[in-house]
Amino acid sequence: MAVFVLDKQKRPLMPCTEKRARLLLERGRAVVVRLAPFTIRLKDRIGGALQPLRLKLDPGSRVTGLALVRESETCDADTGAVERLEHGLWFGELVHRGQAIREALTRRRHYRRARRSRKTRYRAPRFLNRPRREGWLPPSLQHRLDTTVNWVQRLRRLAPITALSQELVRFDTQALQNPEISGVEYQQGELAGYEVREYLLEKWRRTCAYCGAMHVPLEIEHIVPRARGGSDRVSNLTLACRACNQRKANQSIEDFLQRQPALLHQIQAQARAPLKDATAVNATRWALLNALKTTGLPVETASGGRTKFNRTRLDIPKTHALDAACVGAVDQVRDWNRPVLSIRATGRGAYSRTRTFNNGFPRGYLIRHKRVQGFQTGDWVRAEVLKGKKAGVHVGRVAIRRTGSFNVQTPGGTVEGLSHRYCRVLQRADGYGYTIHTKPVTEDARRAATPNRATRGALFLPASQGRGFSRKTDEHSARCSGPYAPSSIRE
Ligand SMILES: [Zn+2]
Repeated sequence: MAVFVLDKQKRPLMPCTEKRARLLLERGRAVVVRLAPFTIRLKDRIGGALQPLRLKLDPGSRVTGLALVRESETCDADTGAVERLEHGLWFGELVHRGQAIREALTRRRHYRRARRSRKTRYRAPRFLNRPRREGWLPPSLQHRLDTTVNWVQRLRRLAPITALSQELVRFDTQALQNPEISGVEYQQGELAGYEVREYLLEKWRRTCAYCGAMHVPLEIEHIVPRARGGSDRVSNLTLACRACNQRKANQSIEDFLQRQPALLHQIQAQARAPLKDATAVNATRWALLNALKTTGLPVETASGGRTKFNRTRLDIPKTHALDAACVGAVDQVRDWNRPVLSIRATGRGAYSRTRTFNNGFPRGYLIRHKRVQGFQTGDWVRAEVLKGKKAGVHVGRVAIRRTGSFNVQTPGGTVEGLSHRYCRVLQRADGYGYTIHTKPVTEDARRAATPNRATRGALFLPASQGRGFSRKTDEHSARCSGPYAPSSIRE
């Protein structure tokens, strides 16, 4: 993973390799600014040569992929064709907490509803006095937008980013319907197939039209079979699982579904109706685009069909970060097999000071101030315990208690009851939790692994430092010596 570099005046320079960063730190020419994303500041340099960097985003409902790439173009000497090359520098996955926000607001609404029925039940209800401003988004979606923009701004402070790319829509409707606008590449080339596929997945809600199966590989199915003169138009296509597709073979849909007239009618109606405007489906993505435009950087937008096309053509596994790297017009991606920084939005604590049981009765109260002995919940600490049952080095996110006896969440589990005297802050709480994935986490692997976090290959960043974790003696510690090695941090 590339290391971010700032100059003496804290302006971003080109990111460097881990090895270079380690040498700079060893020679005392640089100091560590942040641990995640790992950033150093040069003590003796002002300004430097910059190259074009592009930050690419693949916004998702739960995770947004981030990829920082260096762009270059090569020109074929014979044909004169220009190839757009990308070198992966840094990959991240921003894990949103929309669900948690939703649940918290639902809980609050229930409290208020209950209080109203207890205490103010005769007060007349008020309606129409709470207007919503133009462009309002539900808080869970607004959070997704805000955190994404926040990370674009953070990364701009760490690297000289000159352009942005964002996946705006799942599929490009113009590419499907308007041959004049989109050109040969879309209409006849390989890309058309990808856009059609994404469109169908959206239109048929990723289910088999005949049996309703989900989460199975779906094939494109001709409603009027090709053998009977059916066309390739989108209105003649649907999705079917392999079993249904083969059972139907080249029967007409009327024959195939003659015992299920209701389903037949529904499929025929749905096939004729075009999918509603994609803008409504993707309100957040459009809002994000408008927010990204205010940064003043040029923003390239692309469709999910193109992302998939690039990813398949370049033979890159499907992860959120690598999807981001494949967004937009790109001919080759190099150095994509790199560790990924997982950035989990954790929030900065709750406003409510009362903890309740499930039935809503108070269980206990939180302290009114956030700091205890100079520590705050969410700080990233290193605790060196010299003797006793908990002897060892524990590095992780701290949860404070009023008594000064803290819990530290480490990759090996939570260590409870560590005195504040053993702890030292590595990085202050900033509302995010950080983890490094050394291998690409594909969708399949993620599905197989969740919710068991221990098997995710999760590596909290400083695990490389931990003498305390005998469990982590495998390749992680070997690979992740990098700039995170103990000698390079602070000392
Ligand atoms: Zn089926």
